[in-house]
Amino acid sequence: MLPLDEAFHAVAAHHAPGPEERVPLLDARGRFLAHAIVARHDVPGFDNSAMDGYAVRAGDLATADGSPVSLPVEGESRAGGPPPGPLADGAVMRIFTGAPMPAGADAVVMQEDVAREGATARFGAAAPVGAHVRRRAEVLAIGDPVLTPEDALGPGELALAASQGYALLPVRRRPVVAILSTGDELREIGAPDRPGSLIDSNTYGLASAAAAAGATPWILPLGVDAPDALTARFEEAVHRADVVVSTGGVSVGDYDRVADALDAVGADTLFTKVRMKPGKPVRFAVAGRTPLFGLPGNPVSALVTFELFVRPLLRSRLGDPRPYRTTLDVALDRAVTAPASRDELARATLSRGPGPTARLADKQGSGATTSLRGADLLVRLPMGAGRLEAGTQARALHLVEDGGSRDAPFAR
Ligand code: AMP
Ligand code: MG
Repeated sequence: MLPLDEAFHAVAAHHAPGPEERVPLLDARGRFLAHAIVARHDVPGFDNSAMDGYAVRAGDLATADGSPVSLPVEGESRAGGPPPGPLADGAVMRIFTGAPMPAGADAVVMQEDVAREGATARFGAAAPVGAHVRRRAEVLAIGDPVLTPEDALGPGELALAASQGYALLPVRRRPVVAILSTGDELREIGAPDRPGSLIDSNTYGLASAAAAAGATPWILPLGVDAPDALTARFEEAVHRADVVVSTGGVSVGDYDRVADALDAVGADTLFTKVRMKPGKPVRFAVAGRTPLFGLPGNPVSALVTFELFVRPLLRSRLGDPRPYRTTLDVALDRAVTAPASRDELARATLSRGPGPTARLADKQGSGATTSLRGADLLVRLPMGAGRLEAGTQARALHLVEDGGSRDAPFAR
């Protein structure tokens, strides 16, 4: 039985970015570049005015005693208008925000600082060279790196790529995740009730968790516990998906056949149990380059083990350099007892109060699906820590999209 940190390590050895594909800008949101892109245009593309006002030669406004200067206004430069001619000797030019600077001008005086008198403009003060001028390429020059694979592509990054004329971006492909719920007792929503059957809910929890992680879920029909049928399902999944996630059938009962099915498809099993609660019986195997996760059937265990092991691997396929959740130190809102030989991951909701506090769900059993409701924390109760009083500090995984972490949580 592996300690939690070794289990993270074993899965991390199979983290790798997926293949590259080129997608339209809006399909790249939330994804990562396969390689850096560079500037195709200078930004700004030409020297232009940052203000509405007058383009001037700064030297023309400087007087020995600082007295005001009146100069004729000749010509105009406006954004999107005809290119302005050069600035006439001894004159100023009307200019508007974003408009090109006329040749010969080296500063802009904003109109609030100018008294306009017919065809002349009166300047009360000198202007430094370069005032209110946005210089060509001062933000980006052709060839400068614009975005790299480190950048999560959000609205700002996509606007930047668009401003550089990129209609398509080279990103990592979304991994296709086969979701295979197994167990003879399962029935689909809406199917007639049979004695001893229960509704398959894991498919919905896991498919939505996969989609939320940026992957493409591929839901297989419910798997039965008959060995040959189960093996056939796994074979299909391994061939057609990038990652395979099953639930159920990983314990040691006579009908827990996932282990045999994984062997039958030629997968190398890397671990079969982790010192954690919920989720002790969790399998990780690799067939060729395809990782397979045999998650426990209990809905809470399934989602907690997905969160810990599957999600970071999916993020790595997307190219996320920070594939793990971040952690947060929280105070426990009530006394609890940590298990003797496993790390417990207690579901809780964060309350910010005076300091971050974990409101632990009432029922923490692995069958208590209600504990998932609103849970945005998985609080680690370290194995062997015994009774933890209310107010004790504990470290928790924060289940929010916050940019993530490079490092696996709970390092010792
Ligand atoms: P297992 O891991 O197959 O021993 O299943 C553990 C428990 O989880 C049993 O009570 C199962 O009925 C339940 N279970 C297994 N698969 C699912 C599923 N897909 N949806 C809901 N509950 C499940
Ligand atoms: Mg079962």
